[in-house]
Amino acid sequence: MENRLFGTDGVRGLINRDLTPDVALRLGLAIGTFFGEGSRILVGRDVRRGGKMIVNALISGLLSTGIEVYNCGLLPTPTLQYNVMKGRFDGGVIVTASHNPPQYNGIKVVGSKGIEITREDEREIEKYYFAGKFDRVDWRRIPDRDYMYEKAAEIYVNDVLKQVDVELIKSKKFKVIIDCANSVGALTTPIIAKKLGCRVLTINGNLDPDFSWREPEPTVNSLKDTALIVRQLNADLGVGHDGDADRSIFIDDRGRVMWGDRSAAIIAKYLARKLSGRKVFTAVSSSLLVEEVLNPLGIEVVWLKVGSVGISYEMLKHDDTLCGFEENGGFIYPRHQYVRDGGMTFALMLQLLAEENRKLSELYDELPKYYSEKIKIPMERSKALEAVERIKEHFINERIITIDGAKVIFSDGWVLVRPSGTEPVLRIMAEAKTKEKLNWILKEVKQVIGGEAN
Ligand code: MG
Repeated sequence: MENRLFGTDGVRGLINRDLTPDVALRLGLAIGTFFGEGSRILVGRDVRRGGKMIVNALISGLLSTGIEVYNCGLLPTPTLQYNVMKGRFDGGVIVTASHNPPQYNGIKVVGSKGIEITREDEREIEKYYFAGKFDRVDWRRIPDRDYMYEKAAEIYVNDVLKQVDVELIKSKKFKVIIDCANSVGALTTPIIAKKLGCRVLTINGNLDPDFSWREPEPTVNSLKDTALIVRQLNADLGVGHDGDADRSIFIDDRGRVMWGDRSAAIIAKYLARKLSGRKVFTAVSSSLLVEEVLNPLGIEVVWLKVGSVGISYEMLKHDDTLCGFEENGGFIYPRHQYVRDGGMTFALMLQLLAEENRKLSELYDELPKYYSEKIKIPMERSKALEAVERIKEHFINERIITIDGAKVIFSDGWVLVRPSGTEPVLRIMAEAKTKEKLNWILKEVKQVIGGEAN
């Protein structure tokens, strides 16, 4: 950690090496200086090792700057975000490393709407942090009451339920398998399912900071055991969360793990028939199938840079938003809140299945079929940017989206070439309707990139 603290998604680091109590204390002072004396800040954490250590140090820093701290203890990120907005707090801090491996922890700062603060605001906090310029208050003004905020999960669950038809879903008696990633999703999603009359089997529901059964990132590989259980037990639906439960990856009744852009296309299609919003927001890393499914329904897909925070802020600027999402399972339902929300997405999926009265596998099979390939090529950032420029020139006659790397769209396939935001690699994602076309796209792209790609 040189002179940058915040990465693409908050502060992340190795527990007790990068993220020590000293760092957390200083960050607490910087965050407190940013919000200012008398601000009400909600603090919470996921199940990760060191979470309590970091929270305690953070709170000390916040108190020293005169912040009124309300401590929620363990809870999912979207639960904290929802409560910040609903409880009219000035902001919130959640200690989580989301989907990172167990040895990592992190800190996310959210503003009064529950959305993570902007890049500019993060820079301001960094400025205080590195300059050591903190607005410590006079000793007489240090808040010394311990505000526990224990109702956060209950408030969140109740309000998620208000967004769906509880009686209709109850009447279906769905069999659901919930994989909580051994973390805080276990504190809300099984309760939502229970209140919706489901028969619930919870997997990885014990809080375990070692994540001993599966990694905290929900993927086809990490959810393979859960998928097997869904199929073996003839469940209607499976869902896998990440470490802080803002992401939901679904498993259909045939045990197929669905990538997030697929499930989002299914949900958006359903919402398009019910609600008036006509814009869907997603990152360029999502499949083109989203347009193929939604354009015929009069829905415009707005392509954005990779990163959920940017998606949230862009959605706020429009008044005809239907939903937003990322291909990793982060889904934003703005009628509830403008951030990714694993529990809300799960409830929406049940609502959809109840109303459509069809199996998820049928809805999945209706989606256009694509062959997919993802490649990572080690490359310096400057070289990767040059490669993107060459792709833009080469495919000048095709439709290209250039908001983040280059996404070239062909009649029956697409490719995204993009420098990673976190590591020195060039990422290539390609999809096509036939294997031949996919191979052609990859060959063509590798030729244009040249050098390391071959
Ligand atoms: Mg997450």
